Amino acid sequence: MDRWAVPHSLNDSRPRKTLAGRTPRLGVLHVASEVAPWSKTGGLADVASALPSALESLGHRVTTVLPLHRGSDFPEGERRPLTLTFGSRTWHGALQIVSLSPSRRVVGVDMPEWFDRDGLYAIGGTDYADNAERFAGLAHAALDFAQQDLDGGRIDIVHAHDWQAGLVPSLIRQQPARWTRVARAGLVLTIHNLAFQGLFPKEVIDRLGLSWDLFTMDVGEFWGHLSYLKCGVASADVVTTVSPSYAIETTQAELGFGFDGVLRGLSDRYVGILNGIDTSVWDPASDPQLPAHYSSEDLAGKRVTKRVLLETFGLPVGDDAIDRPVIGIVSRLVEQKGFDVVLAAADTLMELDATWVVVGSGDAEYERGFQALARRFPSRMAVRIGFDEGLAHLVEGGADLFLMPSRFEPCGLNQMYSLRYGTVPVVRAVGGLDDTVRQYGPRAKRANGFKFKDATPEALVGTLRQALRVYRRADRWADLVRAGMKADHSWAPSAREYVKVYRRARHEAAQRWAE
Ligand code: ADP
Repeated sequence: MDRWAVPHSLNDSRPRKTLAGRTPRLGVLHVASEVAPWSKTGGLADVASALPSALESLGHRVTTVLPLHRGSDFPEGERRPLTLTFGSRTWHGALQIVSLSPSRRVVGVDMPEWFDRDGLYAIGGTDYADNAERFAGLAHAALDFAQQDLDGGRIDIVHAHDWQAGLVPSLIRQQPARWTRVARAGLVLTIHNLAFQGLFPKEVIDRLGLSWDLFTMDVGEFWGHLSYLKCGVASADVVTTVSPSYAIETTQAELGFGFDGVLRGLSDRYVGILNGIDTSVWDPASDPQLPAHYSSEDLAGKRVTKRVLLETFGLPVGDDAIDRPVIGIVSRLVEQKGFDVVLAAADTLMELDATWVVVGSGDAEYERGFQALARRFPSRMAVRIGFDEGLAHLVEGGADLFLMPSRFEPCGLNQMYSLRYGTVPVVRAVGGLDDTVRQYGPRAKRANGFKFKDATPEALVGTLRQALRVYRRADRWADLVRAGMKADHSWAPSAREYVKVYRRARHEAAQRWAE
């Protein structure tokens, strides 16, 4: 399907020209629970950082509200006291407002009671018991800020991300008289991963002073629980997700997590827009985390990076080892990512002529599985458990292949980083992986990697074998590497699709008010 597929009707709400002939700038308020570089557990943080920046480049005004999690290292800015009252309690904290440029601001919600913690959402694999309160708090803080931010200009769009911001559109819809400055804004919700739905016992409704109107099947009730994500889906004017294929998959039972019917019901108000990548941060020609730089014209630095990668992981670095393909993995080690299939195929995989480097953290079962494998095959596999941005860049730069065998993948960023770093992706053909990786074939013109359909050891091993055979054909491999490196994965085309969505959302909001 089309890489930037957007339902045709969205194109009908083309930007109108002003009298001066200019496209009017939009004022956009984003609300996200993690934003790189200040906090990150996954792709959401990258998107919440890069999309506002791309929107700004298109001439729009963007403000992003985020929690100040422990260790955020957030820039100094204007501090305003923040008092939030909902349910039967009042909380005192502060907002930290930072202008990154004349048309881009970030606003940190400094509420230590909620956000000064070791983990963002959970600790030791267990969700914090007060997550419903913490993220109702984020929503209230964002809306109170919007209401008082009189010098920030008009807000045309409120864009909430994932369940953590799911209450934002619901609160606006329910209390327009309280939040007048955003009451008529177009409301957009983006689903970054449908597996996380923000499910809470219905008791939180009274405790947090929410309306029981939310607890209906049409809004936020989900099998007897309140789902913050469903609240957001039901209240937004347009719902987006992060790739065209995932938009289709989530309307089907297999990957719909019980939301497929709700999402189907949105019809063309549910849109898949592929994430871009931040090409200033992820650029092999200038990446400060790489020991040597390179480009599609001159790949010498990639070989230097490969040597440093092997050294860093304590793997052999002789000529043989440098010639042998390195397969990289950088990931959350969780069921979604399909590592059960990798571990099930481990013995066969270790017979392949390849070296493995793994960086990841997550479920103990997978962490232990990879560590045990590295102990058994110390010259073939090295594993670092943890979240390490620097190592992630080094693996992207130094590996030859990058493996993502995901069971589902809303978009996936690492395969796009890999393409840009000349590291050929081997992926399961699902979600955004399917949208971005084009299968190698001797006559396939635009091929940039390898993909397999079945989540089975046989399919995985078969595809890796094929990839390793092509690796030995230096000319073909070079074509694949260059095809990936030359493609444009920047945010600009995606940001333009979001602007179309914003115009559609404004149109929908206007219709709502006209009714
Ligand atoms: P998800 O959001 O499901 O985790 P994505 O591929 O969309 O998957 O984004 C993952 C992001 O997190 C990428 O930027 C990736 O490099 C990074 N990442 C994941 N695990 C690690 C890790 N252990 N160390 C460093 N970066 C990681």
